[in-house]
Amino acid sequence: MPPKPEAPKVTNRYYQRTAGTARPCFICFRESTTVLSTFNTTDFLYVCPGHLLDRGFATLLTPPSAPPSPASSGPSKEEIAKVIADYERKKSKGKDKDEDKKDKKEEPASAPFLTPSVPAAPPPPSHPVYELHRDYWALRQSEMKKRDNLVKAKAVSKDLPRVPASAFGAIVRPRPGPDGGGIV
Ligand SMILES: [Zn+2]
Repeated sequence: MPPKPEAPKVTNRYYQRTAGTARPCFICFRESTTVLSTFNTTDFLYVCPGHLLDRGFATLLTPPSAPPSPASSGPSKEEIAKVIADYERKKSKGKDKDEDKKDKKEEPASAPFLTPSVPAAPPPPSHPVYELHRDYWALRQSEMKKRDNLVKAKAVSKDLPRVPASAFGAIVRPRPGPDGGGIV
């Protein structure tokens, strides 16, 4: 058997994503919105949270929650809270000191840290990467191959001349003569 040169180039690396609609788990058919998909979504499969943690099914390659690097994203919620707390503290301190003289002047103090109320969007969590157990990986590969063959077959059948439907009917139905007069 000659080796198949056009085997899909997919590696056993599945990224965890969340789908909008739940579909049955690949293993137990329990509805789940968790999807494992290859990098270019050549292959994907739904899996329930329980089976995601099943070492007999897949192994997590990356830590699920790497601490977000402060450099990449804006200030975190905690940082903002800290800044606000700092500000409030300074404000009240100043107030204590100057209370006797000009406490009225403190009134219009605007909180510059509060005005930009843009929520610090959490950085998109880097997708955890899983490696399927080799049995399941083999299964997925054969699935992919099957799918690939199906696509190829479809493409080929498109190129073939279409068999006219009447060709089948001709066997059963007697054809009328060329002038419609029927058979002699
Ligand atoms: Zn499951």
